[in-house]
Amino acid sequence: MFCTVCLAYSKASESNAFTDGMNDWKHVHQRIEEHESSKHHCRSVEAHIMSSNDKDGYSLLFSNQKNVRAAQVKEKRQVLERVIEIVKLIGKRGLSYRSINDAAYCLDNVNIDHGNFLEILILLSKFDPLMKNHLDIVMEKSKQRHVTCAASGTKGRGGLVTFISSTTVNYVIESARRMIKASIADEIQRKGSMLDCNPIC
Ligand SMILES: [Zn+2]
Repeated sequence: MFCTVCLAYSKASESNAFTDGMNDWKHVHQRIEEHESSKHHCRSVEAHIMSSNDKDGYSLLFSNQKNVRAAQVKEKRQVLERVIEIVKLIGKRGLSYRSINDAAYCLDNVNIDHGNFLEILILLSKFDPLMKNHLDIVMEKSKQRHVTCAASGTKGRGGLVTFISSTTVNYVIESARRMIKASIADEIQRKGSMLDCNPIC
């Protein structure tokens, strides 16, 4: 007989009859009672309760980090939702997405035509604090990178994930294209099978 709580939460150095396998069947009730009141078992039960309530050592140390990370992921997802909706709107109206002036470091320059996609993002950010915060961060990082690249004579975004680049827009367009294609194929198959079922008059 084993105690699952002790097996899961006791230290390897602290073995007892119920982690090794208790086989004193003649006095089984007495052995269980002894084990349940032992320090060893109580410590394991305590560890189990703390772990269930997210109060074990790992959670106490890293729960804050986990919460911060979860909040960041949620925020990025909300930004992406807005980007997808803008891409859908531009696609529906059959407009162009970008202009030649699509660098993030000059997003605050109102005299430049940033293209439909970025112009809608900028407009949205005037009323949407989440988008404004995201664009401010992206613009700041892009400015820093622009200065560094200009000083070193190098080019490129260098792995800066912004969700507003042509790469993201292309990903969204490609996903939409696949979904539309799959939907059309389904529709054709469905209509084809309906025709097969109808007898020829
Ligand atoms: Zn136990």
